[in-house]
Amino acid sequence: MDFLPIFMNVKGRLCLVVGGGEVAKRKAGVLLEAGAKVRVVAPEIDPSLSEQAGVVSIVARFDEQHLEGVMLVIAATNDRGVNEHVSVHARERNIPVNVVDDPELCSFIMPAIMDRSPLMVAFSSGGASPVLTRMMRGKLESLIPQNFSRLAAFAERFREQVKQRVTNPAKRRIFWENALDGVVAEKVLTGDEISAESMLQQMLADEDNIVRGEVYLVGAGPGDPDLLTFRALRLMQKADVVVYDNLVSKPIVDMTRRDAERIYVGKKRADHTLRQEEINALLVRLAHEGKRVLRLKGGDPFIFGRGGEEIETLAAENIPFQVVPGITAASGVASYAGIPLTHRDYAQSCMFVTGHLKDGTMNLDWDALARPRQTVVVYMGLQGLDTLCAKLVEHGMPDATPIAIVQQGTTQNQRVVTGTLSTLPGIAAVEKLHAPTLIIIGGVVTLREKLQWFHPHHD
Ligand code: SAH
Repeated sequence: MDFLPIFMNVKGRLCLVVGGGEVAKRKAGVLLEAGAKVRVVAPEIDPSLSEQAGVVSIVARFDEQHLEGVMLVIAATNDRGVNEHVSVHARERNIPVNVVDDPELCSFIMPAIMDRSPLMVAFSSGGASPVLTRMMRGKLESLIPQNFSRLAAFAERFREQVKQRVTNPAKRRIFWENALDGVVAEKVLTGDEISAESMLQQMLADEDNIVRGEVYLVGAGPGDPDLLTFRALRLMQKADVVVYDNLVSKPIVDMTRRDAERIYVGKKRADHTLRQEEINALLVRLAHEGKRVLRLKGGDPFIFGRGGEEIETLAAENIPFQVVPGITAASGVASYAGIPLTHRDYAQSCMFVTGHLKDGTMNLDWDALARPRQTVVVYMGLQGLDTLCAKLVEHGMPDATPIAIVQQGTTQNQRVVTGTLSTLPGIAAVEKLHAPTLIIIGGVVTLREKLQWFHPHHD
């Protein structure tokens, strides 16, 4: 360790910034944010710096006496001679000094910071590579939600009460771990502090039983891991057990916590590995064991995902849960295939329907589907493609209407086959398509020709 990391309380204390330009202004800004009073010394001082509240400026060259009463100094001039002068005198008086971009003259360095006040993370490479430091910060910025601040403030609010109630320190640590990494935290992060508080009070009242399972019903998007949400990723790395479908791509399953138990409950047409009721029961059992269960589903859990049924069972059993939306196949697949779902000239509305065959028939409102100036997206429609095209024509849709089938959209293996209502069934038979495929019907399909070149995933 080359430096001792500390956080310094400068509230109401006098700090000195030598320099009057852009860099000085930035440094003064950080000091002001931390509540310091700032004395700025330079022959010329930018008014946007000198006029800030909390700044007392002295228009002069730096002189030793400017160090009087100062607890910390930052030299930010572009004159090395002056900077060195500041550094020498500050050190003589044992005042911590930082010279911008000149580690040799520094007795302390300023870290890159990630501010989730009161949570604060400071990054430093000890001067070795500021770029690397910033990259590291960038990575963490994306992992730690902005509203973590709220979580810290929430914890602070109840700290004393919890301390009184849970007197055993080891138990108290577990209590906080559960609260800050569980359903209470999730409530705070989504802004629902009222529920969070009542859950926390419930946990406190039931101190012996603080280990409580919960379920995250998470949409994993259509395949490309880049289309996950931050929240999905966070919960994926937190859950103890992962229960996933065959629609969830392998690279995504691989992003769940390394030591999590993974249970495959894939459902392919006709080959149901686990029946829906069994999946519901499995989720309940795991949660009752106190586990944090990630129910990972393709696309969005509430769009043809039977997510509603799964949470109904959880609610009936009083198991805490949350639902995380995902990019649904229609939206992800359409954009990767270069087909806008709506367009001023072609479609003013868009319908999502499922073509799942029930008793060999498709039970759809054909008249509604056949209307002009709209886009129809059919999930699970490949088996019924012939019927689908025939019925639409029968109900008045022109047989030259463009139609596309996208197989494994958004993944490396995406394939797009296009035709018209009259030609596509024949083409699809030759192309030997297999699930998952999404069918898009309507004038917007023709736009693909214009747009696909601009998309990295065109085939
Ligand atoms: N909840 C999911 C849909 C589940 S139903 C969602 O919101 O996307 C399963 C159907 O979704 C598949 O039969 C297929 O029609 C469609 N689908 C899902 N992922 C797909 C993909 N990557 N490419 C094409 N179709 C997909």
